[in-house]
Amino acid sequence: MPLEAGLLDILACPACHAPLREEQGPDTPELVCTGEGCGLAYPIRDDIPVLLVDEARRPA
Ligand SMILES: [Zn+2]
Repeated sequence: MPLEAGLLDILACPACHAPLREEQGPDTPELVCTGEGCGLAYPIRDDIPVLLVDEARRPA
């Protein structure tokens, strides 16, 4: 189920404050940072984005 419209507009990467975009990750949907040189992917678990750097997947 897609995130509520408008929610993405107010979410930002906690590491670099760049906007996020929703993508399907290997295990869960993810919010992927669009910041150059950052690109952390935050998991969405049970429709709740987990915006914690410690929980984020690093880009390959
Ligand atoms: Zn970032």
